[in-house]
Amino acid sequence: MATQITAGTSELRDITKMERIGAHSHVRGLGLDDRLEPRENSQGMVGQGKARKAAGMVLRMVQEGRIAGRAILFAGPPSTGKTAIALGMAQTLGQDVPFTMIAASEVFSLSMSKTEALTQAIRRSIGVRIREETEIIEGEVVEIQIDRSLTGATKTGKLTIKTIDMETIYDLGTKMIDALSKEKVLAGDIIIIDKTSGKVSKLGRSFSRSRDYDAMGADTKFVQCPEGEIQKRKEVVHTVSLHEIDVINSRTQGFLALFAGDTGEIKPELREQINTKVAEWREEGKAEIIPGVLFIDEVHMLDIECFSFLNRALENELSPLVIMASNRGMSRIRGTNVKSPHGLPVDLLDRVLIVSTRSYSEEDMQQIIQIRCEEEDVTLTPDALNVLTSMAGSTTLRYALNLISCAHMISRKRKAENVDVEDLRRAYTYFMDEKRSVQWLKEQQGSLVF
Ligand code: ATP
Repeated sequence: MATQITAGTSELRDITKMERIGAHSHVRGLGLDDRLEPRENSQGMVGQGKARKAAGMVLRMVQEGRIAGRAILFAGPPSTGKTAIALGMAQTLGQDVPFTMIAASEVFSLSMSKTEALTQAIRRSIGVRIREETEIIEGEVVEIQIDRSLTGATKTGKLTIKTIDMETIYDLGTKMIDALSKEKVLAGDIIIIDKTSGKVSKLGRSFSRSRDYDAMGADTKFVQCPEGEIQKRKEVVHTVSLHEIDVINSRTQGFLALFAGDTGEIKPELREQINTKVAEWREEGKAEIIPGVLFIDEVHMLDIECFSFLNRALENELSPLVIMASNRGMSRIRGTNVKSPHGLPVDLLDRVLIVSTRSYSEEDMQQIIQIRCEEEDVTLTPDALNVLTSMAGSTTLRYALNLISCAHMISRKRKAENVDVEDLRRAYTYFMDEKRSVQWLKEQQGSLVF
């Protein structure tokens, strides 16, 4: 079984990543400069400078491979941008660095155990960059690997042939080998091959571009190369997550389960085989592990068993960076009667770097509202903008942002181009914020069924 393990990259290549839309679609990064200083209003981010800078520092450590197996906690009041910053981090990470986002409550599902759900989330957050060889495709720009054995020279390197079709590559292949066996060619040397005459010559490193180019015929190919034998295959690199490898190799699931998102439980023995296989690929230089990021929102919703599992998982060599977010202060750790900061057990808190987010100033809130309006293609009148900003202050920023689209719908009904105060007022009466909802529940006590 172990020998049949596949990374399934050909199937995965076709799975396009879904773009996140919705509440955070305006967030395009952390909005930091090269020195990780927060720009005032950049990449959809405003304010929360210290937390954004801290997030940028963490990312830099991830990119330098210095922080896997650690955990970060974003702690702060509701609607202070904890999720937005985490998503900004995701956008900043390279394309092939995995970022997984879950809400802690998702772990409690009927279809799998809590620890299986966490294991899947963790393995989704670990990338495996795999190198594969494929046939060269006609007409492609290719890189050709060269083996030093032919010339017996000591250096190896890469040979780049520029824009040559398949036929020419084979053709050049034999001519190159001829040339290389006659002349001692070193890495960085430049070889000129005249396609018509088949003449091969070596120019050495000091190639005077303009003069020598002029002297060549139109059919001449220009090649910079080290020494050796040409292989007519090229290397391609893909990144998949450990979880994707698990699913593709799981007999009961198969890779189509990745589309459905319902992968069921995966047997621990299969995971062990996959870990062994990936370790082999790593040793053979075929694969590289990329620790990514696992973001757990509302982390106080996890229970004590999940926390101990996470604590152990963080010690594993293959652990991603775990980022958690909580808007709770002192609260009970689920599954115990113990109260603890942010509802996290002390031993886990001990290994966590805490980044706090603070309530926004009115000015910051106004800018965030404006960014969201641009994102949703809505124009507020100046009065409406002021009213919505003060609403954000007395309710929450999230509630105010949610009102934008509702008020826009109301304004469209009256065929107005811009959203005005009256549209906001009506939206406010249709949709309650949390405070009003609690108040209303109190008033209704006795007449509602609980
Ligand atoms: P909770 O504790 O309730 O989960 P949170 O701290 O995760 O809240 P977010 O969901 O990130 O808060 O923020 C609420 C809304 O405000 C989102 O639409 C988010 O994109 C936006 N937002 C928050 N902070 C910023 C910011 N600094 N810049 C731009 N948009 C922001």
